[in-house]
Amino acid sequence: MTTPVYQNFIHGQFVPNQSKETFAVKNPATDEVIYHVEVADESIQEKAIASAREGFAAWSAMAPIERSRILNKAVYLLRERNDELAKIEVLDTGKPIQEADCVDIQTGADVIEYFAGLAPTQVGTQQPVGNDFFYTRKEPLGICAGIGAWNYPLQIACWKSGPALAAGNTLIFKPSEETPLGAIKLAEIFIEAGMPEGVFNVVQGAAEVGQWLTTHPEIEKVSFTGEVGTGKKVMQSAASNLKDVTMELGGKSPLIVFDDADITEAVSAAMLGNFYTQGEICTNCTRVYVHKSVYTQFIKELKARTEANIIAGDPLDPNVNLGALISKKHQGLVLDYIEKGKAEGATLLTGGHALSPESAPNGYFVAPTIFTDCTDDMTIVKEEIFGPVMSVLVFEDEADVITRANNTELGLGAGVFSQNIQRAHRVIHQLKAGICWINSYGNSPAEMPVGGYKQSGIGRENGIETLNSYTQTKSVYVGMSQIESPF
Ligand code: NDP
Repeated sequence: MTTPVYQNFIHGQFVPNQSKETFAVKNPATDEVIYHVEVADESIQEKAIASAREGFAAWSAMAPIERSRILNKAVYLLRERNDELAKIEVLDTGKPIQEADCVDIQTGADVIEYFAGLAPTQVGTQQPVGNDFFYTRKEPLGICAGIGAWNYPLQIACWKSGPALAAGNTLIFKPSEETPLGAIKLAEIFIEAGMPEGVFNVVQGAAEVGQWLTTHPEIEKVSFTGEVGTGKKVMQSAASNLKDVTMELGGKSPLIVFDDADITEAVSAAMLGNFYTQGEICTNCTRVYVHKSVYTQFIKELKARTEANIIAGDPLDPNVNLGALISKKHQGLVLDYIEKGKAEGATLLTGGHALSPESAPNGYFVAPTIFTDCTDDMTIVKEEIFGPVMSVLVFEDEADVITRANNTELGLGAGVFSQNIQRAHRVIHQLKAGICWINSYGNSPAEMPVGGYKQSGIGRENGIETLNSYTQTKSVYVGMSQIESPF
C-alpha cells in the first residue's frame, strides 16, 4: 500500500520541492510508516521567504479587527474539525485519543481566540512635550519563525501563530519532523478562514531547516520550543542578525507535598504531572518532594492508583490513558534513564520496563515508573527524562525543601500542595520557576503567561505580554512650533 506524500505548504498551497528528498513519519503506536513528507530544500526556502514578504504586506495593512475576524473563523474551523485533527495528533504522537480529543485542539483554538480578541485592543500612547508632542505605535516585527517540538504539535503551532499573527506578523513554521501533519492542517484552515496567502507557511525537515530559519536575515524573530541544548544553538544562530527570541525549553520541576496536604489530590497531581501524555510534557513535576510524616500514606496511594488505573494500549481506544512514546530511539533513552536510576540506588516502586500491550504490540511503550529513596544527586533526579518516570524524595523542613527544589539549572514549573494558604504562597514565591501551581498541576489557560526561569527559557507564551513581544514600538515626535536651530 502506498502512503501519502505531503509537500511543503507555501503561499496557500502545497508546493513540490526540487530535490525530491522526503522523510518518513511513523505511528509510534504501531511502528508503521504512515506517510512521507518532502523536505524544504533551497527552492522551497526561497519561496517561503518571498511568500511571507508578500503576505506581510497584505496582513499588516489590514485593520486589527479584520485580522481578528479571520483568526476567529479559523478558531471555529479548528473546533468544528476537533475529532479529525485529534486523530491526526494521535497517529503522529502516540498519545491517547482521550487526551487529544479534549485538550490538544481545544487549547490551541483557545489561544488563537484569545489573541484574536486582543488584536484590536493594541493601542499606542500620546504625550505632550512643551508645545510639541509625540505618540507611539505598536508595529509588527515582520516575518517571524516558529520551530516546534513533537509532544503537542498542533497546539504549539497555534500557540505560536496566535500572538504572532494577531499582532500583524507573518509566520514561517517548522514542525518537528516526527509530527509534521498538524501544522499543515492549521495552514489549510487559515487559508479557508480567509487569511491572505503567505501569512502562515509551513516548511518541513529536520535541524538543517530549523537552522536556516534561525540564520535567515529577513526573519526578525524566532519562537522556539524544544530542548535546552537546541535552544542555545538557536539563540546563537539568531544572534547573526540580532533576531528577537522566545525560548520554551525543558524542565525538571518540583512538586512539594506538605504534611497538611490533601493526599489524594496530591497523588492525582503527581500522576497527572508524570504520566499524562506518557510523561512527554515539559512542565512535568518529575521531582516529587513528600513530607516525611505523610510519605508512607502518599506512596501507598500512589502505587495502588498507578497499578490499578493506568491503561496502556492502542491510543485510538478511548479507554486507553497511556500512549506510546514518540520513537523507538526515545523509548531507548527513557529505558536507559530507568537503568541509571536502578544502578544509582533508587528503589523501583513500580514499572521500570518497556510494555507491549496486546492492542498495540509494536508500539514504543514504557510502563509508568516510580522510583522512591531518591536523592538529589541521582541522574534521574537531575536530568529531564521526558517519559513516564517519577522520582519521589523525602523532606522534613520547609526551608530545606525550597533550597533543594531550586537546586537545578532549570526553572520551568513548580507545585505546592498544602492547606495552609500562607505557607503555600510563601513557598511558591521562593521557588525559581516561571509556571507555578498551588493545589493543582498542569493547567495552562490561554490567559496565563507561561515560560521558564533560568535555562528553561526566555520570554513567555500566552497572556497579554506575549502579544507585545510580537510588536515593536515606534515613537513619532511631532514639532508644532518653529525649530530652534543654531545653524
Ligand atoms: P528538540 O530541541 O530536539 O527539537 C525541537 C525543534 O527544533 C524540532 O523542530 C527540531 O527539528 C528543531 N531543531 C533541531 N535542531 C535544530 C537547530 N540546530 N536549529 C533549529 N532548529 C532545530 O526538542 P524535541 O522535539 O525533542 O522536544 C522535546 C523538548 O522540548 C523537551 O526538552 C521539552 O521539555 C521541550 N518542550 C518545552 C516546552 C515548553 O513550553 N517549555 C513544551 C514542549 C516541549 P527535528 O525534530 O525535526 O529534528
